Amino acid sequence: MAKIKELDSLISDRVEFNIIIDKIKELLRSGTQKEAILIKGNKVIKNQEIYWALKYLGTKYAAVSENEENVNVSLDFLALYDEISDPGIRVYNNAIELIEKDKPTPLVKLNGIINDEKIKIWGKLEWYNPFSLSIKDRTAWYIIFNNLDKINNKEKIIEATSANTGISLSAISSILGKKTKILMPNSSPEYADKMLKIYGSEVVREGNSTNDLIEKVKKIAQEENAFVPDQFSNIFNVLVHLRYTAKELDYQAIYGKLRLKGIFASMGTGGHIAGILLYFHNKYNGIKVFGVQPMENGSIPGIKKQDFNKWWSISELPDKVFSVSFDEAVEMIVKTARNNGIIPGISGGAVLAGFKKAYEQGILEEGDYSCIIPDNGIKYLDDIYEELS
Ligand code: PLP
Repeated sequence: MAKIKELDSLISDRVEFNIIIDKIKELLRSGTQKEAILIKGNKVIKNQEIYWALKYLGTKYAAVSENEENVNVSLDFLALYDEISDPGIRVYNNAIELIEKDKPTPLVKLNGIINDEKIKIWGKLEWYNPFSLSIKDRTAWYIIFNNLDKINNKEKIIEATSANTGISLSAISSILGKKTKILMPNSSPEYADKMLKIYGSEVVREGNSTNDLIEKVKKIAQEENAFVPDQFSNIFNVLVHLRYTAKELDYQAIYGKLRLKGIFASMGTGGHIAGILLYFHNKYNGIKVFGVQPMENGSIPGIKKQDFNKWWSISELPDKVFSVSFDEAVEMIVKTARNNGIIPGISGGAVLAGFKKAYEQGILEEGDYSCIIPDNGIKYLDDIYEELS
């Protein structure tokens, strides 16, 4: 007879990530666990991939059995949303719990962006994350905490970053008592050096883009016995957004009774859009995911023009990609500020500009759309202000 058990009470051998991702897709598409996880005591002895897929989806429970058995248990019943549905009274024992437990980030209806009552825009405000005040806290936290065994015997953590990931890594490393070395391109915003130095991180400025620094980071890591989180190809940079950013948005849309038709997201490493694609394209038929990138030769902090040859083999491609200019991003920041009283960061403005383009092209059906706003405009005030005057 199958039983429902807490996933955390089970132990399992590791399984390759491509097998886990396939199982995640299958679970999301059917919405149900169809085979019991075979256990002996609390050890998983078969269907390890189901165990890991449920673990990375973040269900609280799993259906288990001591014999091979078909089951039919919905993800809802396995408490898919439990971990993100109630931050409670928000008293925490340490700052790490702010990222672990203080979820979801808010979803707020943004008014005055377009003039059409049949289409609503909901900003997911990622500056509510605690360290870098950006979406990248999620990436840094999940990579670090899923690699503690590799980090323990390393001298330091080293990463190439446009700013936010470096700040998150420095904050989390300081909690763990580890040093950090951060390589940033010359185009990264100035405030980043100050924050990094407050955390005691070593900062190196070099090159025009993070792409120029990735190989150098790997070389230094060998020389200096450092751990490289490698947000550019670490699968946990996708899994964190599957399990949290996307699932939060799903739950918020259900709870808020939204008719969610599409999600707009900017792309740097491509991590958050890949997690969102993996989740929404498999769980729902017809919720579109749109990518936003800078125009050819344009520069928008945190995001870059994509070559679509990395995560895209595990998630699907965005339904459409919009290229926007810095000026278009700033125009939307100002519009958002003057109609809603909040100031998105420049990549957030770019996402809203991508939304506006899609609207003007007439490709959006009636309903609700979410724009992922990665950080806040206060970090870029000089750049935004310069564009105004
Ligand atoms: N916006 C900002 C401000 C960022 O710092 C980043 C990434 O560093 C992004 C957007 C892009 O996020 P992702 O790396 O998940 O594509």
